[in-house]
Amino acid sequence: MRRRQRPVPATKEIKMYFHCGLCVEEIKALAKHGPVSPREYAELEAGWTELGLQIWCKRHEVNVLHIDFEGQKHPANMDRLDPEEDDHAEDA
Ligand SMILES: [Zn+2]
Repeated sequence: MRRRQRPVPATKEIKMYFHCGLCVEEIKALAKHGPVSPREYAELEAGWTELGLQIWCKRHEVNVLHIDFEGQKHPANMDRLDPEEDDHAEDA
């Protein structure tokens, strides 16, 4: 029996961001001299692996997250919306 597939939005739905622990420590230290934006400091890359999906810190060359999909295929949306039409778009 096939599960009913719910829509996967292409709008920004992130509730919690991934962070490299080493970057967070550096941001805390740098913040003593002025505010540092984690978004601007982070240098994360994301990609598919043999197991699933991995988030990698380019700054420290370390793993942030590696998800094993255990052979399962999951619904995904790779559409790109026009930022002008995205109500969730932020400039932060
Ligand atoms: Zn890092």
